[in-house]
Amino acid sequence: MVKNGSQHISQLRDGREVYLNGQAVGDVTMHPAFRNSIRSYASLYDFQARPENIEAMTFASPDTGDRVSRIWQMPTSYDELVERRRMLEAWTELHFGFMGRSPDHVASCISGMVMGIDVFEQYDAKRAGALRDYYKYARDNDLFLTYVIVNPQANQSKAAHEQEDKYLAVGIVDQDHEGITVRGAKMLATSGIMANEVFCSCIQPLKAGDEMYALSFAIPMNTKGLRVLSRKSYEENAASVFDNPLASRYDENDAVLYFDDVKVPWERIFVAGDTAMCAKQFHATPAHSYQNYQCQVRLMVKLRFLVGIAMKITEVNGTNTFPQVREMLGQLAAEAAMIEAWVHGMEAKGQMAGGYFVPDRNLLYASQVVTQQLYAKVLNSLRELAGGGMIMLPSSIHDFENPMLASIIEKTQKSPVASAEERVKFFKLAWDAVGSEFASRHNQYEMFYAGATFVTKGHAYRTYDWQKATGLVDNLLGSYALSDEIRREPAAA
Ligand SMILES: Cc1cc2nc3c(=O)[nH]c(=O)nc-3n(C[C@H](O)[C@H](O)[C@H](O)COP(=O)(O)OP(=O)(O)OC[C@H]3O[C@@H](n4cnc5c(N)ncnc54)[C@H](O)[C@@H]3O)c2cc1C
Repeated sequence: MVKNGSQHISQLRDGREVYLNGQAVGDVTMHPAFRNSIRSYASLYDFQARPENIEAMTFASPDTGDRVSRIWQMPTSYDELVERRRMLEAWTELHFGFMGRSPDHVASCISGMVMGIDVFEQYDAKRAGALRDYYKYARDNDLFLTYVIVNPQANQSKAAHEQEDKYLAVGIVDQDHEGITVRGAKMLATSGIMANEVFCSCIQPLKAGDEMYALSFAIPMNTKGLRVLSRKSYEENAASVFDNPLASRYDENDAVLYFDDVKVPWERIFVAGDTAMCAKQFHATPAHSYQNYQCQVRLMVKLRFLVGIAMKITEVNGTNTFPQVREMLGQLAAEAAMIEAWVHGMEAKGQMAGGYFVPDRNLLYASQVVTQQLYAKVLNSLRELAGGGMIMLPSSIHDFENPMLASIIEKTQKSPVASAEERVKFFKLAWDAVGSEFASRHNQYEMFYAGATFVTKGHAYRTYDWQKATGLVDNLLGSYALSDEIRREPAAA
């Protein structure tokens, strides 16, 4: 099945239990906190369903022969990986990289797990079967999945089972022949309010005694007992599209999920009670590589967009001919191109694993470590280029409705290339990308979506070819010796 936008929107009217500002939300598709962003997601589905895009955006399901979204494709060659990436890139361009947990993210993770199905087979044939069936079900029904794979912060110096409340993080309450009952919370279901289902697991290292938190399962967002606690909605607080062109339409949301004795059937459970397997599902299969490769493709598009904003700032302010400004633009251009180089490098240096072509892990982690730091730097460069222009703005669209204010705006919002209205329109967008509350959340997102920096640096450390590096040093050390240059006199007796 290749879903279109209206099909996706109607699927979200499923009675899910979402809370915002102390109230149950009801129909999320009509609520001012979520409706525009849901329509932005719907536009991705409309795009893929257009007859002229079917070839590029979908592939033939190996099981049914029907066309299904390429987000579920498991590439068996470099060419297929690139074909799939072009699809991810085309989708990302529709939201300019601002929807981090778009449907291609968790689909990449689950597909990666299935590419490493042997790891599940060695663990438990039934759980492997459940994962394989779920992958097919999600793919053939074009499901949008989100995931929650991190425990609430609480006391970070203690293990999950040592926290004050045993059920702070999602843990097993009991189990029977039908399935497992779980209780507790997870952070953060980005896009959860807009997705069909949630994959719940734990990517953080679990310790001995943490077995009850070693879980991996997927359930619909309207499952009984699943309570969704939205963070503040930037969309709801965006005065208008003109005033907040990004926050008003691309606020994917991040929610705490509370599982209030939720019953999960065995056919939806992929890991239960095995701490080692919980880590292996991500790291001993291509899952972690695929999910984070998707992130780098997205970031590549987002930085291209931000660099576009930078160039336009200088055009609108007439600063683009100054050598110092060109130098800054050159630096930004190099930074955006660096991510592009990484994406192409991961693909070119990819390897076959169990019949599938997997992007290179070390280049992937290198890119993550550097981009976690780079994003804030890029935002700062845009601030520096913009000066007060992003702040010297009418309070809202209503200022244009007052003739006296409108005439002052006309006289004061000057640019060598833009009318007053165009200048205001552009700088409102720039602020939403760089400095608004929405933009600030994006800075936090790019720093943390893949784990804290010590975590990503750990991955880079583990996957770097140290032998090649230290081997070079050894080769040099081996090319000379002290004894070649001096003759030592025997020590006096
Ligand atoms: C906007 C946003 C969206 C998110 N979306 C999702 C999502 O869709 N799904 C999901 O599962 N998760 C999501 N997350 C959660 C994200 O995965 C976590 O924030 C991330 O893994 C870091 O974990 P943490 O927040 O517990 O930070 P911590 O691990 O507590 O780290 C915070 C800081 O504490 C220090 N620190 C903590 N522990 C150590 C240690 N052992 N050694 C050294 N220093 C330490 C470091 O300075 C670190 O930077 C999201 C987070 C954000 C901010």
